Amino acid sequence: MNPIRATILGASGPYPGSDDLPSVIVCYGRTRLLLDAGEGTQHRIHEAGFSVASIRYILITHMHGDHILGLIPLLQSRSLSGTETQVTIIGPEGIRDYLLENFKLLYFRPRFDVAVIELKGDDELRLSNDVVVQAIELDHGIVTYGYILCFGDRRTLAYITDTRPLPRKLSSIIEEPDVLIHDATLSSNDSDLALEYKHSTAAEAAHVAKEVKAKTLLLFHVSQRYRHCYEDHLREARKIFKYSWIARKFMRIMIK
Ligand SMILES: [Zn+2]
Ligand SMILES: [Zn+2]
Repeated sequence: MNPIRATILGASGPYPGSDDLPSVIVCYGRTRLLLDAGEGTQHRIHEAGFSVASIRYILITHMHGDHILGLIPLLQSRSLSGTETQVTIIGPEGIRDYLLENFKLLYFRPRFDVAVIELKGDDELRLSNDVVVQAIELDHGIVTYGYILCFGDRRTLAYITDTRPLPRKLSSIIEEPDVLIHDATLSSNDSDLALEYKHSTAAEAAHVAKEVKAKTLLLFHVSQRYRHCYEDHLREARKIFKYSWIARKFMRIMIK
């Protein structure tokens, strides 16, 4: 049984000059899959000891810059590396145009085929014999998808950002995920901002984790405003769900 290894490449909400924008690389057997590609993702892929050439699937949650502005540079580096293996990019409607327009304006023709899948709803996609992706439409003001990665033997990693909490919907789709990475941009003291910007608080993320019976919760996309008080953020979640952690850049998670 292959272990599933996930490495957080960026975990915080956007702030000026950030080198910690959302991205997670997931390795299972020979499959290398990337969740989101915030600006600078390719540099952090190298720093974490991976190669851009090895990435075969890229899943983008939504078209906000902090989740996608690293995509084109990553594809350019992948092309420069000389690899000719196809990459498959999955994301919301509009991502095909985004890629084609950029390729055209930058006079960039990748050396490899780029397959693009634009999601139409809560689609289920089989990536290989033993990796299935379930997309879930979230609640973030623009079309946004969460992704549940299911590995052959029922091991599951769920990546749910950016969104208001959706405990009922998620619990009807995800069951006992090994790891739940969930939006926890704000603390309960700033719940008005969570409502306004359609994000979740640490407590709301913890409620979702409890509802879906997650084994581990990683609080993700946490705003920099809490950088001096992560402990409070964590305490807020742990009051509700004991197995909570704050996702940090280069944190490695293994699911055996
Ligand atoms: Zn967003
Ligand atoms: Zn974001």
